[in-house]
Amino acid sequence: MSSPSNIQIPSRRALLKVAAGGAAAIGIGGWAAGSAFGKVPLAAQQAPGFYRRKVGDLEVTALLDGTLTFDQGTILALVPKASADSVKPLNDKYFVPASGAVTLAINAYVVNSGDKTILIDTGSADKFGPTAGGLPLALTAAGFDPASVDMVVLTHAHPDHAAGLIDAKGAAVFPNAEVVLSETESKYWADAGTRTRLPDSQKGFFDIAGASLKPYAARTRLIANAADVAPGISSIALPGHTPGHTGYRISSGDQQLLIFGDAVHIVEWMFEKPDWTMAFDVDPETAAATRKQLFDMAASDRILVAGMHMPFPGFGHIGREGNGYRFVPAAWAPL
Ligand SMILES: [Zn+2]
Repeated sequence: MSSPSNIQIPSRRALLKVAAGGAAAIGIGGWAAGSAFGKVPLAAQQAPGFYRRKVGDLEVTALLDGTLTFDQGTILALVPKASADSVKPLNDKYFVPASGAVTLAINAYVVNSGDKTILIDTGSADKFGPTAGGLPLALTAAGFDPASVDMVVLTHAHPDHAAGLIDAKGAAVFPNAEVVLSETESKYWADAGTRTRLPDSQKGFFDIAGASLKPYAARTRLIANAADVAPGISSIALPGHTPGHTGYRISSGDQQLLIFGDAVHIVEWMFEKPDWTMAFDVDPETAAATRKQLFDMAASDRILVAGMHMPFPGFGHIGREGNGYRFVPAAWAPL
């Protein structure tokens, strides 16, 4: 049996030599030889993020609004059941950087039937700094004009989901869209008592929710659990993160996708530890119970899922792992 030191890994130079015929034609040979071919300035900025999947006859486009990175101290303060010791094995297993900093994506999804363009969540606009707020760029890059959006459907009204409804002046970004959200969610954010009850660090969420929904007041539709939102889209109450937090089941033919919003924030921790809730969960106990029910259903029924804070584009499956679960990113699929 050979020891690892006996394993011969071919050098890049050797690989390039083997590939030389084809590589030269596509410019890789130029890199190896140091010629000017292929000399392009480094971009130094990320491209707008969008990615499509087919669900039956519907085309679903994931949009990346951006990312948020929390240092270890901050994220542990936000997840009270976690500690530096208890996250260590998970961080090692899932390749969280040695600093312990955790990065969350902010995703949104467009469902296009060919007749209707429906946007699920709107990203964070200018509320979370320079690493987020890219949804308008991603939307345009994916071929959608804000004016072509017929319906904006919200999982809930936290700022990283609803702030993109308005521009910096407070005007509607989507001039022709009906806004759809849960009746429970609407009532929660319309109640002045909510602002009083929120911790000081989250009182701004209340103000942003109100400002974001306001220009759409005359064209807002409130829905119940299991409501038909649009052909092929129905609501699933996923309470706890907020009282009216809602997932959406996208169905066409024999295929379906369950967009679960903020049922999970930290992919590296919360599948194995589904009872680890966040400070942003309005009712942590209910949030944990909802999450476990969701995981159990998605694992049993082998449903394709997507989430707003899953690594972009966020599509995958939920499998069982020990006493918890695991997330398996979905493979690329043709349209
Ligand atoms: Zn969120």
